[in-house]
Amino acid sequence: MSGNPALVMRLVASAYTVAEKAGAIVRKVLNSGELGIVAKTGANDLQTLADRLAQQSICASLSRCFPKITIIGEEDLPAEEIQEDLIENGQVEAILHKSCPEEFGALKEEELVVWVDPLDGTKEYTEASRCLHLQGVGQIPKKGLDTSQTYNTAFCLLDNVTVLIGIAYGGRPIAGVINQPFYNYQLGAGAALGRTMWGIVGLGAFGFQLQEVPGDRRIVTTTRSHSNKVVTDCVNAMEPHEVIRVGGAGNKIIQLVEGKASAYVFASPGCKKWDTCAPEAILHAVGGKLTDMYGNAYHYDADVKHMNSAGVLATLCNHEYYVSRVPQSVLQALKSD
Ligand code: AMP
Ligand code: MG
Ligand code: MG
Repeated sequence: MSGNPALVMRLVASAYTVAEKAGAIVRKVLNSGELGIVAKTGANDLQTLADRLAQQSICASLSRCFPKITIIGEEDLPAEEIQEDLIENGQVEAILHKSCPEEFGALKEEELVVWVDPLDGTKEYTEASRCLHLQGVGQIPKKGLDTSQTYNTAFCLLDNVTVLIGIAYGGRPIAGVINQPFYNYQLGAGAALGRTMWGIVGLGAFGFQLQEVPGDRRIVTTTRSHSNKVVTDCVNAMEPHEVIRVGGAGNKIIQLVEGKASAYVFASPGCKKWDTCAPEAILHAVGGKLTDMYGNAYHYDADVKHMNSAGVLATLCNHEYYVSRVPQSVLQALKSD
């Protein structure tokens, strides 16, 4: 590192520790069993105490360090004094030591927009919690994963949960951080749970092993809890060899970069900018692409509408194939952004 690191490097170095803190909050609320669930637009659109506390922690921590950056969080929360123990002010040295891509070297706080999904996969989080607490299990097991159905079902769902912090400049996602709070759950509560992945376009992505799906297999990943006929029609039109139905936009991008899925196909307006900003940046940093179902890019300026109205199509490669397979009937059902 020579001199003062560029703003974007300092922001990602902070967002990494801030996302880790949010992940710890998400685990703590699960273990307490008091989720404080609120239905937002309906039973499939939930908010928990973990969503609220994690967002407060992320937004307050980042805005204290970077007061002029616009930060947009998913949850609509009353403006109130944030408890001091929610503030995280660490930075990851190893990120500060990397060199900033030249095109982002001189960015100013006023030019950046941060999109925050404090807990992506809330539906799955609440289902996993219900499953654990109904069975009287309550906590992440201390000594490794019990082989019982309860644990397996609940923890598979918890793996869908991520914390997403995306950074946009000029309407494009340029950097992102994803924390997966329950990663390594198989090892039990004694092990260090969770992992953090990050990436900057032009620099690369870190915290995971980049892999492609072996062979020419088309493995499509899609929603498990927000499906309908248009969503299913579009998945089928891809002529997949296999379909995986899991929760979370962040989780599905992790599947793409780790070679577990070839395309994330979601022909629905349900995903929002905070769902796709961080995932898109990380995917782009490793050569992948995230667009609407027409193949057009989304924009992430502060004043855009939040809904990704024309669906989400993401791939590590062969994007054009998937765009070309989207049926006219599906395009007609969705509106371009
Ligand atoms: P899913 O793949 O169903 O987990 O959705 C990915 C992200 O989009 C999650 O944050 C969901 O909450 C959000 N989402 C997708 N569809 C809807 C919907 N119909 N209503 C509310 N949120 C949705
Ligand atoms: Mg989300
Ligand atoms: Mg969320």
